[in-house]
Amino acid sequence: MPWIKRDLCTGCQLCVDACSAGVIVMEEDTAIINEDACIRCGVCHDVCPEEAVRHDGERIPDEVQANLDWIKTLLAHDYYANDKAKQKQLIERLGKYYTKNKKVIEKTSEQLEMLINEEYTE
Ligand code: SF4
Ligand code: SF4
Repeated sequence: MPWIKRDLCTGCQLCVDACSAGVIVMEEDTAIINEDACIRCGVCHDVCPEEAVRHDGERIPDEVQANLDWIKTLLAHDYYANDKAKQKQLIERLGKYYTKNKKVIEKTSEQLEMLINEEYTE
């Protein structure tokens, strides 16, 4: 999923004009991608002269931090605060939740690999 690093964007609008799905707009002289509507064609990466269109992998640390911030918010809720046993249960429950998500991603990746091999290998 492409995203735009705002401090690198000069507002040239090349990506806006080139976007295959018309999902990049300008907001205060900076390009913004409507990620829900993006069709992942990658054209925006190719046209940006500033390398402002970045790849998903760079966001992993931020996404991990966002998860941890969310977990801390839950732990601070009145229901859990000052109750170590409930907090431990929550952490274990969330561990299962992230393990499930990991399995979904692994299984999806396996299916994609099979799709490539079955449909797109010459
Ligand atoms: S990947 Fe394609 S559809 Fe998505 S924002 Fe870039 S150019 Fe537009
Ligand atoms: S092409 Fe790059 S620099 Fe130009 S508006 Fe898009 S993201 Fe910004």
